[in-house]
Amino acid sequence: MAKVTCRYCKTKVNKEDAFSPREKLYFCNQECYQRWRKTEDGELDALLDYIWKLYSPSKQTSSTYIMIKKQAEHYHNVEGFKYKGMLLAVRYYVEVLERLWCDDYGLGQVFPTYYITLQHLYEEQRALKNKLTKNKQDKEVKIMHGKHNVVHRKELSLE
Ligand SMILES: [Zn+2]
Repeated sequence: MAKVTCRYCKTKVNKEDAFSPREKLYFCNQECYQRWRKTEDGELDALLDYIWKLYSPSKQTSSTYIMIKKQAEHYHNVEGFKYKGMLLAVRYYVEVLERLWCDDYGLGQVFPTYYITLQHLYEEQRALKNKLTKNKQDKEVKIMHGKHNVVHRKELSLE
């Protein structure tokens, strides 16, 4: 019986019993698959799988795959980009900005520009959230002070 190796825990399992979400990708079971998806290897795979599908079938060659994998690893290892963040940036480019993926180019059409754009967006969002939380706290303090002041004024009033 043919044996395959679990991509996550490297256990050899019977091909028939293995969980295979797609061709050439095997796991002992769903649990190993779910755990693997959270690893760096799993996140890189999700990124490459998404980008791969953006290419037209005639461009889905092994050389295209090797190119995008090399580029993704470069941005990750050299620029310190996170695979998960890179996937978000590509999705942002394609799904939010509705840009067409150019078949003739690799990841350079998105990175580093849109990864950085997205990073800025997140930072702005976080800053805005902090500001809103702070405003809320300030407001609560003011209201409390307000009541306090009212109480004080009443105590001091001669009526
Ligand atoms: Zn496993």
